Amino acid sequence: MKPLHELVDILSSPKKIIITHHNNPDADALGSSLGLYHYLTQKGHSCQVVSPNTIPDFILWMPASENVLIYEKSRVEVDILLQNTDLVFSLDYNHNSRTHSMEATLDAFQGVKVLIDHHLQPDTRFHYGNSNAGKSSTCEMVYDFILENKDEDLITLDISQCLYAGLMTDTGSFKFPCTTESVHAMAAGLMLRGLEPASIHTKIFDTFEEGRLRFLGFVLSEKMKINTDLHAAIIPVSMEELNRFQLKTGDTEGIVNYPLSIKEVIFSTFISERENEIRMSFRSKGSFDVNQFARTYFNGGGHANAAGGRSKMSLQQTIEIYNKAISENEIKLKQCYEELV
Ligand code: 5GP
Ligand code: MN
Repeated sequence: MKPLHELVDILSSPKKIIITHHNNPDADALGSSLGLYHYLTQKGHSCQVVSPNTIPDFILWMPASENVLIYEKSRVEVDILLQNTDLVFSLDYNHNSRTHSMEATLDAFQGVKVLIDHHLQPDTRFHYGNSNAGKSSTCEMVYDFILENKDEDLITLDISQCLYAGLMTDTGSFKFPCTTESVHAMAAGLMLRGLEPASIHTKIFDTFEEGRLRFLGFVLSEKMKINTDLHAAIIPVSMEELNRFQLKTGDTEGIVNYPLSIKEVIFSTFISERENEIRMSFRSKGSFDVNQFARTYFNGGGHANAAGGRSKMSLQQTIEIYNKAISENEIKLKQCYEELV
């Protein structure tokens, strides 16, 4: 994969570009895609953002989100568009399987494939791109790309709002270890161009339905199980429970982080029963590597402190595999805990 800045020749004339991101987009996936979309459009390219599936409400406010095509609803249109596309930018994921329904179509794309991403172990089939697990977010990498091109004057308020959203959420509101100097420098850079951070925090965190907060209360009080000995917590929820609180896509986002605020807990897991699979989110504090855990046991991956996975078994069977998995990691979990206290 050649570095992103070597795209400069290709991008020196107007191109037809598709920008896409992972299934179940979060603020970093959509924010980086729309930030890049606004930037490349200003540079004279013809761009289309395609999301594999529906965009959750908490990020629908992003400028131009109404122009995003949803692959699951517009398959034929996107497949035709791809035949006439010069470049595909893949953002906030590093293997086409992370786009679920779009995987085959993206694998078959004959044009230039570009990656901008901060997950570990990228697929080697991209032609150009930057893959840097040391970066907080894909939004930060898009910002770096714009600065590298000496285009800071093209950073509009629309771009700032999109990029700040992913920067803020992927750093856990500037508290995770990935919150580097460059993260704060970027936030300051966006503010100098007129961004008001408080309004983005409000749009993302203070716009939920009542059911979401009641669900949070319910799971923390009734569902969270803590294994103090192994420093691990798990929150399993069934489809019936998700339906009872009328949760929408994205409403369970972030719940996995709560158990980590308990002193003894260094590893947290959220398991939810969905239509076709069991979905899992993993978070850790300190050096317990959840990317490795997700890869080893649950067909997933991500970062060292935040990863996801899935299982095709029942909720109960998945919990049993999890219990076995944490037992196998007993020594590691205890060591990682000792490092923190
Ligand atoms: P979440 O728990 O929020 O769904 O995912 C946590 C992090 O892990 C996110 O950065 C997400 O993109 C990544 N992630 C989730 N599932 C997978 C997966 O199956 N493979 C890889 N490589 N990353 C994943
Ligand atoms: Mn991200």
